[in-house]
Amino acid sequence: MSAEQPGAALPAAISVRGVRRVYDAKPNQVIALAGVDLEVAPGEFFGLLGPNGAGKTTLIKILTTLLLPTSGEARIFGFDVVEETRRIRRIMNMVAGGEQSGYGILTVREQLWMFSQFYGLGSREGWTRVDQLIEAVGLGEQRLQRVSTLSTGQRQKMNMARGLLNDPWILFLDEPTLGLDVAAARGIRELVLDWKAAVPGRTVLLTTHYMAEADELCERIAIVDHGRILAIGTPDELKRRVQQESIFRLELDHLDEGVAALARLPGVESAALAADADAEAQRVAVNLVLTDDAALGGVVTALAGLGSHILALRKSEPTLEDVFVELVGRGFGDEDTGGPGGDRTGGGQGSATADEKPIDVVGDDARETSSEPNLTETRR
Ligand code: ADP
Repeated sequence: MSAEQPGAALPAAISVRGVRRVYDAKPNQVIALAGVDLEVAPGEFFGLLGPNGAGKTTLIKILTTLLLPTSGEARIFGFDVVEETRRIRRIMNMVAGGEQSGYGILTVREQLWMFSQFYGLGSREGWTRVDQLIEAVGLGEQRLQRVSTLSTGQRQKMNMARGLLNDPWILFLDEPTLGLDVAAARGIRELVLDWKAAVPGRTVLLTTHYMAEADELCERIAIVDHGRILAIGTPDELKRRVQQESIFRLELDHLDEGVAALARLPGVESAALAADADAEAQRVAVNLVLTDDAALGGVVTALAGLGSHILALRKSEPTLEDVFVELVGRGFGDEDTGGPGGDRTGGGQGSATADEKPIDVVGDDARETSSEPNLTETRR
C-alpha cells in the first residue's frame, strides 16, 4: 500500500509559517522554536544546520507529526501536521543517527519485515520490499544475521532500509551519520543520494553537525540557532555572505617586477607576498584580492607578459563554519553563552520580548528563493 509518487503540480514539500514551540519545563518555559518560516520545494535536498539546542529536533518532530506546535502552521506536501497526521505518516519517514529501534534477536530480514507490517504493507509485499531494500543498501550478506551482531555502520544501513520501506516522498534524516567512520558515513550519503535521484520529487530534510556533509549534500541550507532561522540559501550563497571579494593564492616561478606590478592591474584590490611563503623555495607565493573572479583573466595575461609562469592557483573559499561563526557569533563546538538569540526561557518579562523578536537576518533574496519552489531546477 505504498503511497503514490508525487506528480507535477505539487504543493511545497515543507511549508512552515510562524511556528513556535514552547516546552513547559520547570521552573521556566523553554522556547525551542521562536517563530520559524520555511519553504522546501519538492525534490529539494535541504539542510538544517545548527548547534545542540538550536531547535532542529523540535522542528523535525513537529514536521513528522510527533509533536504539536504551540502556534503557527506547518504542512507536508500540503497536508497539515495537526489535522492530517495519518496522510503525512504515509508519505514520510525518518531515520536518526545512532537509532536502536527494533529487536536485537531478530535477523535483519525479520526486523525489516516487522516494520513493513507496521507501515501497513501486505505480508508478501513486505517480504519482497524487504529483500529489495536489503540489496539496495548493501546488506545482502547480513540479511540472516541477528541485528545485535551488526556493526554500527551496518546497523545504520538497516535503519536506512527501514526508513525507505513505505516508499516515502520525504525523508527526514536527523544526524544520519552520527558516530560512523568515514567509509560508513560515505556509504550512507551515497545511499541517500541514489534513492533521491531515482524518482523526481523525492525530498530530503537533513539535520547535521557536520558542515562538510551539509555542504556536500544540500541544495539549500538553513542555519538555525536559539529557535530561529538566521539565514537560508545555497551553500555558495551563504558563503558569499562572509566573503564579498575573490581571494586567490598564486604561486609563480619568479616575479621580477615585484607584487606592485600586480597590484596596479585593473580589478586587483591588493596583491601581497604570502606570509607563510618559504623564502628558500624556488617560487613566489602571492595572495591576491580581486573585485571579482573575472579580474583573474587580466592577471594571468599580465603575468605571461612579465615572463612569469603560474605553478599553482587556488581560490581561498570560506567554509560554512565561517558563515556559522559570523551569524551565530561562536563556533559550532564552542560553549553557548547566550549568543545573539539571547534568553530562551519564556518565564519573565525580558524573555517574552526575545520571543517576539523578528527574524531579521534573513535576507530578502533568501526569502524570495524559498517562497517559490521551482521543480525544473530541483528535479534531476
Ligand atoms: P537540537 O535538536 O537543535 O539540539 P532541540 O530541538 O532538541 O534542539 O532543543 C531545543 C531546545 O528545547 C533546547 O533548549 C532543549 O533543551 C529544549 N527541549 C527539547 N526538548 C525538550 C523537552 N521535552 N522539555 C523541555 N525542553 C526541551
